Amino acid sequence: MAAPQQPKAKKATDVFALHCLKPDCGGLLAYEVDADNVLYVDLAWTARQDAGVRYFPCPKCSGKNIIEELRTDKGQLKHNVARWEP
Ligand SMILES: [Zn+2]
Repeated sequence: MAAPQQPKAKKATDVFALHCLKPDCGGLLAYEVDADNVLYVDLAWTARQDAGVRYFPCPKCSGKNIIEELRTDKGQLKHNVARWEP
């Protein structure tokens, strides 16, 4: 009665500093995201709002890093940095 070997569920979340999504900018923003650009600490409430769009302004190029709501498999509400707009 050998129990099947469980694969090691290593829950390692890689966290990165958020960089401006504009490819030739790369400005550093004071937020942390995972590999999918999902906010690690959900600071979406600190984002600026403009006509229903929420964004983090880039300190370097003044562009908008737009954030969108995201529902996880567990029904958790998160936010990811989706795209850049001038
Ligand atoms: Zn930028």
